[in-house]
Amino acid sequence: MRERAIARLTSEVLGGAREFLAGEGFVELLPVVLAPVTDPLRTVPDRIVVSAYGQEWHLTRSMIFHKQAAVRVLPKIFTFSPNIRLEAAERAQTGRHLFEFIQLDLEVRHATREEVMDLGERLIVHVLERVRERCAAELRALGRRLPRWAPPFPRVAWSAAVARYGEEFEAALSQESGTPVWVVDFPIHAREFYDREDPHRPGFLVDMDLVYPEGYGEALSGGEREYLRPRIEKRIRAQGLDPAAFAPYLALAEEGLYPSAGFGIGVERWIRFLGGLSHIQETRLFPRVPGWPVRL
Ligand code: ASP
Ligand code: MG
Repeated sequence: MRERAIARLTSEVLGGAREFLAGEGFVELLPVVLAPVTDPLRTVPDRIVVSAYGQEWHLTRSMIFHKQAAVRVLPKIFTFSPNIRLEAAERAQTGRHLFEFIQLDLEVRHATREEVMDLGERLIVHVLERVRERCAAELRALGRRLPRWAPPFPRVAWSAAVARYGEEFEAALSQESGTPVWVVDFPIHAREFYDREDPHRPGFLVDMDLVYPEGYGEALSGGEREYLRPRIEKRIRAQGLDPAAFAPYLALAEEGLYPSAGFGIGVERWIRFLGGLSHIQETRLFPRVPGWPVRL
């Protein structure tokens, strides 16, 4: 019964997100699974690389570079992208980590951080209300009472969150908050090279995370992007990475990228929150939990 309720809830989340984004003028793209270059994600060093047709392919860790490429074609895009991130096996215990998950990844040409934060708030509230309306029986079966949220959500600067809770602030912030809360202005060392450095505050990024209340942790990450080739290359080098490893992306930046902003929201974490589930494994019929055995 729980499995059935969660599967129905999942379907409403996907449908609600598609409905909202179509109404905002977004076009849905099909995802990429294998790519010559993918998100560096320095916090998750292990990766899967396969050989085919005489070259190496990375399993997608996020579609960030493809999103920047896609907004050359269309101004507002999204995709439900399968991401593989080989998280440490201890992370199985957090209840929040799968090593194969789906990310609703979106990007908007010429958008600012403010604009995508506003979009994110409205998207999350739209899906919350659709689930409340259409999944009453499922929520009852799961013993879940959904909160009511009125944006704008509160904001805290990364430095203030660290001063209050320490570098690992996410869990405490999530536990203490009664509504979703934005964390903004991460320092440059805390994120990947593609998040845009604030021209008015060097060393800080024009980026954000949204954290769920009730201890459910991170909902989404995103921000404005670096889009000028010399800046991207400088940021790659500053992180001790080799620009040659990002050659296909740099070649695209040489041709020209637009300024853009966007975010990625973990779909299974969203379902976990909406369903009030203690472990994320319940969100998938075929979960991939780091280090845990699978049946199929
Ligand atoms: N690439 C980010 C991530 O996967 C999301 C984003 O910045 O759009 O965490
Ligand atoms: Mg994140």
